Amino acid sequence: MSLAALTDDLAAWSTDPDELTRVSLDRSGAIPDGLPDLVVFARSVDDVQRTVAHAATHGVPVVPRGAGTGVAGGAIAGAGSIVLDLSGLDRIVEIRPDEAIAVVEPGVVTADLDDAAGTHGLRYAPDPASAAISTIGGNIATNAGGLRCVKYGVTRDAVLAVDAVLGDGSLISTGRRTIKGVTGYDLTSLLVGSEGTLGVIVGATLRLSPLPVSTATAGVFFATAEDAVAAITLLQRNGLRPSTAELIDQATLVAIDEAQGSDLHTRGEVFLLLQTDGYGAEAELAAAERLIRPLATAFEATTDPATADRLVATRRAALPAIERHGRVLIEDIAVPRSRLAETVTAVAAIAARTGVRIFVFAHAGDGNLHPIVLADSAPPEQVERAVAAIFDQALAVGGTLTGEHGVGVLKRPWLAAELGEPVLDLHRRVKAVFDPAGILNPGKAIQ
Ligand SMILES: Cc1cc2nc3c(=O)[nH]c(=O)nc-3n(C[C@H](O)[C@H](O)[C@H](O)COP(=O)(O)OP(=O)(O)OC[C@H]3O[C@@H](n4cnc5c(N)ncnc54)[C@H](O)[C@@H]3O)c2cc1C
Repeated sequence: MSLAALTDDLAAWSTDPDELTRVSLDRSGAIPDGLPDLVVFARSVDDVQRTVAHAATHGVPVVPRGAGTGVAGGAIAGAGSIVLDLSGLDRIVEIRPDEAIAVVEPGVVTADLDDAAGTHGLRYAPDPASAAISTIGGNIATNAGGLRCVKYGVTRDAVLAVDAVLGDGSLISTGRRTIKGVTGYDLTSLLVGSEGTLGVIVGATLRLSPLPVSTATAGVFFATAEDAVAAITLLQRNGLRPSTAELIDQATLVAIDEAQGSDLHTRGEVFLLLQTDGYGAEAELAAAERLIRPLATAFEATTDPATADRLVATRRAALPAIERHGRVLIEDIAVPRSRLAETVTAVAAIAARTGVRIFVFAHAGDGNLHPIVLADSAPPEQVERAVAAIFDQALAVGGTLTGEHGVGVLKRPWLAAELGEPVLDLHRRVKAVFDPAGILNPGKAIQ
């Protein structure tokens, strides 16, 4: 492949080995099989189309990249590939307060959009914990979730339309600016979560939601995971809709206490962060307290922003506290909520059986658990056994390998077990339509 034939027409690119090393990695810890040949820093949709068309002609893999915060290996790039870095396409094109929509380029940092919407009394609801560093394009490609998704939905629920460059370099627009619309197949939803394997997202029209007029927060402790999950079920059965329902297990509470000198783990085995928002947030939290206090070992409710920040900070402290103990593998299974408690218990049993240290926190309202595996806490084969057992547990109770992080390269071995061969084959045929040359992020997500 002659790189000059491509780079002559591009505004920004690099073949510097340090730069190539940086863009070949994401936050998964997955190691690519060498260095990519080139990184293209897209400055226009035309740059993206040129790069993809060139790659299609020469059969060269293209790895779309946002901020590289992915934890499934979806953005890692190996020998002979081109990295297509979208982070420079970072304009918020328009915000329409009356329609509560935003039109953005893919490189916009998630929190920047949320902040910009805030100046209009709106917000971008999907809030991955990485919002300060991840891009909207990456969020769309992974269908990212977050704390408030239990009430406001995941990224897919916020995406009305996308512009995407397909595997032959052509540009398509799917979806619409209206809230409703059923003309044609829902190709927008198909592109959301496709991990860069069907098209490169170069623009999106996103739904915004009103900033809540008030928020009420509670930190609740329980003696068991069963009690915590029973509490969430009770809320749901009684028509309450928390905007956050985050669970932290005992091992994680101990790690947080070690990091910040607190005594959280003495107050219960499990911590649940609850928030309600909107008009009547306080009344809704009071109703929640009446329902679940009998199940709790401690219940602290507040509308004071500083106290709320302290309670929310407990959840935010979870991952950094665990990372103090060494390299982590961030797993991401989701199970039917009725099977959540037994899955928390099963993960603890897997840790005990394999001798691998595993911590759990969860978007409990969504049944989405993050078992955090300390990668060097046991011999590699034991760690592999523990991770496989976590996936087996998820599938055994009707769950899924990944709730919000994507398959990337790390979860491919279990794909067929979840999807079944006929459906996996259909995925491959769909990919061939969008990407006939098979150059968009090959070896990721479905292969
Ligand atoms: C500390 C931390 C906390 C996190 N918390 C959360 C969380 O709460 N919820 C959550 O869902 N995730 C979380 N993540 C994971 C990660 O931030 C998300 O997956 C995020 O959506 C990735 O965005 P990115 O811009 O970094 O994408 P990248 O990592 O660059 O790419 C991710 C995938 O998307 C593809 N891609 C990127 N941009 C495009 C594009 N424009 N077009 C087509 N494909 C593209 C890539 O090829 C790759 O497959 C967290 C990560 C970290 C490090």
